[in-house]
Amino acid sequence: MDSIQVLFLGTGTSTGLPLTPCLTISQPYPPEFQAHVPRPNSPGPETPVDAHDGRYDSRKPWPGNVPCHCCRSSVDRNVPEGWKNKRGNTSIIVRRKDSGGQWKNILVDCGKSFVENARRFFPRWGVQMVDAVLLTHGHADAYFGLDDLREWCLRAKRHIPIYLNQETYDNVAASFPYLVDATKASGGGDLPMLQFNVIDDHSSFTLFDIPITSYPVHHGIYFSSDTAGTSVEPRPLICLAYSFAKSILYMADVSQVPNSTWALMEEDGVVPIVLKNQDMARVDSSSESPAADLVDHLDRSLDLTAPTRPQLKILIIDALWPLRRHLSHFSFGQAAETALRIQPSMTYLLGSTHPTTHYMWEEICLAVSGRASIHSPKSINPLHPCSTVKEESWSKTDHPDNQFAQDLVQRIKESDEFADQPATDQRGIISQWKESGGALEPAWDGLVCQVDLHSAADISADEGWHVVSGPQGSTGGWTA
Ligand SMILES: [Zn+2]
Ligand SMILES: [Zn+2]
Repeated sequence: MDSIQVLFLGTGTSTGLPLTPCLTISQPYPPEFQAHVPRPNSPGPETPVDAHDGRYDSRKPWPGNVPCHCCRSSVDRNVPEGWKNKRGNTSIIVRRKDSGGQWKNILVDCGKSFVENARRFFPRWGVQMVDAVLLTHGHADAYFGLDDLREWCLRAKRHIPIYLNQETYDNVAASFPYLVDATKASGGGDLPMLQFNVIDDHSSFTLFDIPITSYPVHHGIYFSSDTAGTSVEPRPLICLAYSFAKSILYMADVSQVPNSTWALMEEDGVVPIVLKNQDMARVDSSSESPAADLVDHLDRSLDLTAPTRPQLKILIIDALWPLRRHLSHFSFGQAAETALRIQPSMTYLLGSTHPTTHYMWEEICLAVSGRASIHSPKSINPLHPCSTVKEESWSKTDHPDNQFAQDLVQRIKESDEFADQPATDQRGIISQWKESGGALEPAWDGLVCQVDLHSAADISADEGWHVVSGPQGSTGGWTA
């Protein structure tokens, strides 16, 4: 069957995880974090390390003495699936086979951890060439790895096309002048041969038979003055989300989806048309002219030729913290509300920060969606069994993160955002999700999914995509 694959090269924050200071400084993470991720037996100033029970023992040598259990578990083989807490900068590869059966690989973002994770995963995935690169925005975790593309260009003896908007191009040119202008390079060294293609924020094009469309979303706000020192209106940093064959939507750095972008995605048949005013108001309440936006939106929505049931299979979306909001990134609640409106079969979360662990995110997703992980049993990647934990020897309640996870789940269930509000008749995210949400899980570095194109129209919502395992499929573990 004709298909495309999405390979998760990185699912972490701009710093990536683990954080080196967490592995070397025997102090808990900053106190303000504890308000957002409760920790039983939180240490006071007189007890500089954890006192909780479980497999971790702060009296034992490193890494058992590392207080941040997220960063610690990424290097501690005693923690089931702890390796899933090792996360690179957010990045995926989308690929499709050409007529000769060769994978054509489109890399989305090429950040600081590109080369490290390429070493981990490309050999397992059989990635032999980076055939094109899409950049989402001009932050270091999205493009600082461009210089490491040089060897791929040299081996292939050709340019790699890079697609990016004007602002990102300007940042690349400022950071790497020799990448955009060969006269800025000194002699003797090899250079990556990159062909820059500046695109509009909303653009459609096709690469290797994969239809691609970019969509502008907000990724924080610039609060600044101009070069003359005059204060200027705050303006959003535009980050590009990308859809692939209207089946996969990648929205990895986002703090708000403006109404104008919702309208574009609806027109393009990527997301369902929403007619309910309250849904729009909830997702984008900060529009400058919500009334005008609404009229414009309703006009568009009445276009009966527009598809009403998009075929989006996989949404990949930013979720930095479970409860805490952030200026530049979605919280879990914002990601979940956006997913409810998009209605994909599967929602993968990425971009989460320490000290929340992969295990905690799995428990959170289970509590909201009511669906157990499809990666069951929740234990050992059979391709890379953990050396000291046997699958049959532990249960969920034995997991050292379980008490933290259940505390966090309880707080989410009780929060205004997730719980029903009988006084105002407002339904919370959990009720809404159980009624109309799809599957929901945290992604991890090394995950591979496959979406079947041209699936029959009458298939159930969960069909048409699957997780790929085995050779050239999902990988990870301590040795990857
Ligand atoms: Zn940490
Ligand atoms: Zn960014």
